[in-house]
Amino acid sequence: MKDYLIRGMAYDGHVRAFAVRTTDTMREIQKRLDTWPIVSAALGRTVSAAAMMGAMLKGDERLTVIVRGNGPVGQIVADANARGEVRGYVHNPHVHYDEKNAQGKLDVRRVVGTEGSIIVTKDLGLKEPYQGTSPIVSGEIGEDITYYLTVSEQVPSAVGVGVLVNPNNTIKASGGFIIQLMPNTPESIIEKLEQKLAVVRPVSTMIDEGMAPEEILKEVLGADFMVLNKIDIVFSCHCSLERVQRALISLGKEELDAMINEQGEAEITCHFCNEKYHLNKEDLENLRANL
Ligand SMILES: [Zn+2]
Repeated sequence: MKDYLIRGMAYDGHVRAFAVRTTDTMREIQKRLDTWPIVSAALGRTVSAAAMMGAMLKGDERLTVIVRGNGPVGQIVADANARGEVRGYVHNPHVHYDEKNAQGKLDVRRVVGTEGSIIVTKDLGLKEPYQGTSPIVSGEIGEDITYYLTVSEQVPSAVGVGVLVNPNNTIKASGGFIIQLMPNTPESIIEKLEQKLAVVRPVSTMIDEGMAPEEILKEVLGADFMVLNKIDIVFSCHCSLERVQRALISLGKEELDAMINEQGEAEITCHFCNEKYHLNKEDLENLRANL
């Protein structure tokens, strides 16, 4: 099965729902960034949430989810757009604790931290990007995104995101779901969904069992639903030599001169994909000449 996402409607249009498989995408990211297990779990949960939030956008719109919980992993960043292209990185990929949490799972909260905020930036093609923020309420990511969507975007939501990691640090399963209530949803539907969500199995287990996003939504919703669209999810980084050159130019003459005279070269590594861009003295002098 390839990674993909579905967006659906249920309960006569009162509920909209998303489910995603991000296992292959997280395999690619884990390999590129060499993230250790708890970090992979934290990043994978953020990437799954961002992929589904990306599917709420249109056309060329895109968004960035930043989790800043002041824990040892530092900042977690995930980018997504409406076409299913996602990428992500963490400030410190090499954090690990052997002890599991009280539920016997990877202690994600401990690496993420619990004091800080979620920041969501949306590029909607307007002059200024939209930015929303909410405090970290749990450090487990899923609950934090739930709080963000419910409080900052004011759409009552339930978010389930999960990652399973193999003993050799590779990714076993990754994915998630988001359930959202439209305005004026009858109380009877809300109660039914709450009962369902209280007993639903971890989404990483469902992915690991080979369940497709359609089957996950069926289990979570406990009802039939209509699939509105299906989007392939792929890892995609849009870094390029040209972007690196533009970033260097933006540093200004003094910084570039210092780089030419002191190091005589520059090596820039993309945070998202770990691609390295090397510029020798001549390259830097050519950039300098354009200023
Ligand atoms: Zn890149």
